[in-house]
Amino acid sequence: MKRTKYRKLGQRTWQAGESHFSLRHNKKVKMMTRTPLPRLLFAAMLCATTSLASEKSHDDGHPAAEPKVVKMEDAAKAHTAPHWNYGPPNWGELDPAFAMCGAGKAQSPIDVAVEGEKGGDKPVMAYKPTPLTVVNNGHTLQVTYLTGSELVLRGKSYELKQFHFHTPSEHVAHGSAAPMEVHLVHKDKDGNLAVVGVMFEEGAENPTLAKILAVAPHGEGEVSAKGVEVDASAWLPEGTGFVRYNGSLTTPPCSEGVKWMVATKRVQASAAQLEAMRAIMKNNARPVQPLNGRMVLDVE
Ligand SMILES: [Zn+2]
Repeated sequence: MKRTKYRKLGQRTWQAGESHFSLRHNKKVKMMTRTPLPRLLFAAMLCATTSLASEKSHDDGHPAAEPKVVKMEDAAKAHTAPHWNYGPPNWGELDPAFAMCGAGKAQSPIDVAVEGEKGGDKPVMAYKPTPLTVVNNGHTLQVTYLTGSELVLRGKSYELKQFHFHTPSEHVAHGSAAPMEVHLVHKDKDGNLAVVGVMFEEGAENPTLAKILAVAPHGEGEVSAKGVEVDASAWLPEGTGFVRYNGSLTTPPCSEGVKWMVATKRVQASAAQLEAMRAIMKNNARPVQPLNGRMVLDVE
């Protein structure tokens, strides 16, 4: 087992690096067991520290070689946002900061099986392997990415920040979900987001997913696997096209202005792997949102 170190979950902030919480670490703590902190304690920590961060003022909680120390005064200033879950779709009513979840007209996910306009620029990805760090933030399993991998769309570079998973898929085709979807979250220097969604189908065992599952925390926490690397290129199906549209984060605060590219081909994972991911994340898919006349491009 390559699992080497655990970090205490300290400050949590909302991050704009798509949807999910980012985790910040007050300090490294070696733990003897994988037993998660009691849930109530965790809930108390989150209530105290969850904050709504502006897109440009944070760095996605990207784990640099040295974890960033979050100062207490920053935490004190932070806005306290409410908890949310994948129960009833009422996110827009939980907090004024989540208003777009209810009122937004360009929300994600969507049903991608629509008659799109043919053409448009194809995104070009240049991904490098990254040391494997898996975060279970209570909403998803997320692999954080070190700098140096990018997606280029219409001459603009978006850096890959992290990828994470949803079971079942959030995007659907003809109303039908895939067993899982991975979201590759990229951000340009101005904080604009471009997210690539790739759906899974049941098939051969996936070697990259095997590395992730070998260390993925079943409760909230973060694990770094020493000497193990993963490459996000594994999520790009050979010769795939993309459905491109403008949408939103799929979790609160559901901010819009996200460039979405959903792969038209799928990657495979074994039935056992898909079940293992589902067992950890449960159902973490937001329901499909209305298209509201948005343009959808079919990029071959
Ligand atoms: Zn996502």
